[in-house]
Amino acid sequence: MFVDTHTHIYLPELSLEIDQVIARANANGVRQFFLPNIDSSSIDAVFKLAKQFPDQCYPMMGLHPCSVNENYEQELATIFAAARANKIYAIGEIGMDLYWDKSFEQAQREVFIAQIELAKELSLPIVIHCRKAFDETLAILKAAQDPNLRGIFHCFSGSLQQAHQIIDLGFYLGIGGVLTYKNAGLAEVVKEIDLAHLVLETDSPYLSPVPFRGKPNESSYLIHIAEKLATLKSCTLAEIAEQTTANSKRVFGI
Ligand SMILES: [Zn+2]
Repeated sequence: MFVDTHTHIYLPELSLEIDQVIARANANGVRQFFLPNIDSSSIDAVFKLAKQFPDQCYPMMGLHPCSVNENYEQELATIFAAARANKIYAIGEIGMDLYWDKSFEQAQREVFIAQIELAKELSLPIVIHCRKAFDETLAILKAAQDPNLRGIFHCFSGSLQQAHQIIDLGFYLGIGGVLTYKNAGLAEVVKEIDLAHLVLETDSPYLSPVPFRGKPNESSYLIHIAEKLATLKSCTLAEIAEQTTANSKRVFGI
């Protein structure tokens, strides 16, 4: 059994044919789907899908750093209310993204910190989105460190040194389609990291693995990431499934 620890299958690209999307994933052994929220506009879709597939789809709640804009206080209030009113499995996805736009850097920082505090209050893991903001993100996590604070650096694609910094904080690395990209350099890094620190994800409908690169991603494609990881680690697909699923369970408690 595999777990897709980060998948937006509630978005219209996939939700319009959700029965087939889930069936294809199940046929490839993908049995659990953790759903990261984006902002107030996606909340209903996340909970609707979780309700439709209560034994397979698990909701998270959070405000994505790319959705932090002039309305962030109101957005955050909506997210907090949804997180407190529903059964959720993580606060996510949250973090910092300075790739597209730096104008809300300070607001992103405040929003990230506030959501870490919410995770602590609710004893939930956090799922982190971090793009072109590694040092900023790490500084915030270090300042917020707490024995109960745990989670995943989603879509990890950094250096070996960064991987070790994340692992030292007790966090897991979310490994997705980038692992299969020839020039990304991620395979060389992941090869050096113990499986005990890795979980798998697709980030559907984004970041399709080879051989579907450029096309919409879906959770059934997780198998291509797992196969690449098995090759890198010289182990069987069953071993990859067992270890990454156990890691996911450690994070999400299910
Ligand atoms: Zn995502």
